[in-house]
Amino acid sequence: TFNFCAGPAMLPTAVMQQAQQEFINWQQQGCSVMEISHRSKPFIKVAAEAEQDLRDLLQIPDNYKVLFMHGGGRGQFSAVPLNLFQAAANATKSSADYIVSGAWSKAAVEEGHKYGKLNVQDIRHTTDAGLRTITDPSQWQLNSNAAFVHCCPNETVDGVEFTGLPQTDVPIVADLSSTILSRPIDVSRYGVIYAGAQKNIGPSGLTLAIVREDLLPAANAAIPAVLDYRLAADNDSMFNTPPTFAWYLAGLVFKWLKQQGGITEMATRNQEKASLLYDYIDKSDFYSNDVVKAYRSWMNVPFFLGDERLNDMFVEQAQQHGLLALKGHRMVGGMRASIYNAMPLEGVQTLVSFMQEFERVNG
Ligand code: PLP
Repeated sequence: TFNFCAGPAMLPTAVMQQAQQEFINWQQQGCSVMEISHRSKPFIKVAAEAEQDLRDLLQIPDNYKVLFMHGGGRGQFSAVPLNLFQAAANATKSSADYIVSGAWSKAAVEEGHKYGKLNVQDIRHTTDAGLRTITDPSQWQLNSNAAFVHCCPNETVDGVEFTGLPQTDVPIVADLSSTILSRPIDVSRYGVIYAGAQKNIGPSGLTLAIVREDLLPAANAAIPAVLDYRLAADNDSMFNTPPTFAWYLAGLVFKWLKQQGGITEMATRNQEKASLLYDYIDKSDFYSNDVVKAYRSWMNVPFFLGDERLNDMFVEQAQQHGLLALKGHRMVGGMRASIYNAMPLEGVQTLVSFMQEFERVNG
């Protein structure tokens, strides 16, 4: 089977097999990795190696902390304003710019409002031809006195992705939950990068935050301890018990990524997978995607059938062919194929063949 689910969680088959093999008796410890203390030497080694491998993959500069946290993407919707407004308090910067490019950046706004003044800019538009598009980052209207600017470069629900960033001295905070590790990025352009693990990293329950050191809040700031970046940094992400099994699995994924040739190789594969699917959709008179080409997501591909009454049949027959979870998000409708790092090219080829056959019979 090939699983096109948007999350959680997409792990490479090789990683699943390794985890299965060593599940009960990990490294001859006589128990599972999830049963050993997070403060034991063997686990600290796992944790440190995972961090180093991630640093190598993303080429994270030394002045960034890598935090392995709880709480998912939504936890970070709170953590970001709580930490960054505190960090900026001395500079009397008490507002932030929030860019809305889809459902998740909108959800971040709803949470962020609780903690400070937000200047919200909705960059979504529809072209004359009825296609969905966004204002390019180079054209965003930003407030030079903001504490930070928040954005979501890949919108998992909407299938909209941008890769450029605005030119600004204000720290850029990016929710990379559904695009991290899918293509190279320049970490030094960001103040904070965060990502729920459950798409390109590992199982849900683990959340990554990569934080530039000068943005850590003051010690003893009024922030819930589990969301406090400084506390996490000062305690090597072990202030409270971390999601150890998820951390271990993330570590295996990072090693797998390195073996595959790193993120540059992933980018080549992801572009090939996405092009194959979009090219077929564009050529077909039966299927359509309504996002302008420049902002189409490499990770989440929404598409529609010419006749919506065939939707249920499409999903059902796809499942019978081993193509799982293609039903679109309830806010967008139609279909959605999520093609994260763990999805092999063969999965997308199989999907396209199925779509061709479905079109031949029902088109
Ligand atoms: N941000 C993005 C881009 C997402 O795709 C998701 C979930 O899919 C979230 C945030 C929310 O993550 P969580 O469910 O871990 O809170």
